Amino acid sequence: MSPAHGMSRRAWLQALAAIAAAGGPLAAGPARADDPEGIWDVVVVGSGMAGHCAAISARLEGARSVLMLEKAPVIGGHTAMASGSLAFVDPPRQAAQGIVDSVEKFTADARAVGNDIDEPLVRLIAGRSAGDVSWLVRQGVRFSPTIFRAFGNLQKRCVTAFGNMGARRYILDLHARSRSLGVESRLLSRVTSIRGEAGDFLLEVQDLRRMAGEALRARRVVLATGGFTANLALRMYFHPEPTHDLPTTANPHGVLDDPATGDGLYLARELGAAWVDMDKIVLLSYWGGRMLDYIGGEVYVNAEGERFVDETASTGDIARAIARLPERVMYVITDAQSIKGVNAGAKLTAGNIHRADSIEEMARDMGVSSMALRRTLERFNEAARSGSPDEFGRTAYTQTIEKPPFYWGREQLMMHSTLGGLHIDARARVLRADGSAIDGLYAAGETAGGIWGSDRLGGTGLLQCLVMGRIAGAEAARRVG
Ligand SMILES: Cc1cc2nc3c(=O)[nH]c(=O)nc-3n(C[C@H](O)[C@H](O)[C@H](O)COP(=O)(O)OP(=O)(O)OC[C@H]3O[C@@H](n4cnc5c(N)ncnc54)[C@H](O)[C@@H]3O)c2cc1C
Repeated sequence: MSPAHGMSRRAWLQALAAIAAAGGPLAAGPARADDPEGIWDVVVVGSGMAGHCAAISARLEGARSVLMLEKAPVIGGHTAMASGSLAFVDPPRQAAQGIVDSVEKFTADARAVGNDIDEPLVRLIAGRSAGDVSWLVRQGVRFSPTIFRAFGNLQKRCVTAFGNMGARRYILDLHARSRSLGVESRLLSRVTSIRGEAGDFLLEVQDLRRMAGEALRARRVVLATGGFTANLALRMYFHPEPTHDLPTTANPHGVLDDPATGDGLYLARELGAAWVDMDKIVLLSYWGGRMLDYIGGEVYVNAEGERFVDETASTGDIARAIARLPERVMYVITDAQSIKGVNAGAKLTAGNIHRADSIEEMARDMGVSSMALRRTLERFNEAARSGSPDEFGRTAYTQTIEKPPFYWGREQLMMHSTLGGLHIDARARVLRADGSAIDGLYAAGETAGGIWGSDRLGGTGLLQCLVMGRIAGAEAARRVG
């Protein structure tokens, strides 16, 4: 494996300190699998949304012993940092909130933003989404009742976790459920190699707590190791276009030990897996200036105080528009009327978002012409009231922007997630370049690639973890039987 995977000594010491402060790692579940040969039925690598869904599903579908390995000192990966928007298609439930949707429409929208999608997989994910969201509810996850249009989606088809913890809430609820089902979790356990074959895979695991290696045996393996946004070498090799210093949304200030190093890609390649769409990435305006988790209540302006894009367009369209601005920086504005996102309070405290009592004060602090900004907001408000397409084609508004105090933030592009990765089929089996499946090896979540084409609808990152994670766990468990 590449050295980019190594945990720095500083990060390792930090991990130890975190464990000491918490009074030790998560207590182990039931002792090692009660198996005459000492083999785990299913080992899941990674403890994000995909890993948890896979582990729970494997237990529910009959795997006698399930082990979830996590290299970090805490569970959750990127999922624990996510806003929590989860896309789904449930026409009757959506209709009750006046929304018209269907699997067909979802697929068409996914194609409109991503072009070269894996249509059968996208249909499968959309078709299962309502049932799988209900499955999450049965596992103990609670959702807020409103169905909203998440950033980057073209329709109101997202829910989010109840409360204000974003997707961390999913992880906490799912982890409690996995423990109640007897899934064993081990932190600071980094899988460094997988050999062997279905029925008897041999996993080499680094115990980062004791700095010792151990070998584990597993009948089936599910890779849920996340994307590779933090693997600079891999990212620059496949996608040199954004410069190497572009921060990631998971690690905007570069101070974290970001786990998204693409480990699953290397682990599976040792067994012959193919990588697909490795040059497809999502760039997102996420520096901290955006304040809302839904679409409709913000306006974006450039350094001249003028609009330059339809703020409700796809993530990719907005990213391309920002990239065309001279300094690649924009300002995001909302007002007192919008419902602020889960992180807005923290952003205000940290100074990413600013408050202004008038347009003039806001323009002064931004360093733009107050006349230009006032004119821009007046035109925006006229369009919002009429609802007819404006000069950028925008038709979706949830409000005007006119009621003080105003809130604004500076925003720039960041590397958000990777769309390339392991080639999988509808049963979450990892495929070789010739299309044949590697028996016993499954992948789910961001480590799997080639589903969404060049961009994905907002909320489908977590949806893909849910649906394919659940399938991977179930398939692994059934095949053991
Ligand atoms: C700031 C932010 C906001 C986001 N908001 C949303 C949103 O609102 N909606 C949405 O749909 N998507 C969102 N996304 C994207 C989405 O969160 C991710 O695509 C998704 O959470 C990935 O889940 P995963 O389970 O595949 O991987 P992760 O959640 O990243 O979990 C992978 C885990 O595997 C572990 N691991 C890796 N390698 C090894 C190894 N060798 N051995 C052991 N363990 C290993 C990692 O440490 C990590 O904990 C957001 C992403 C970010 C960064």
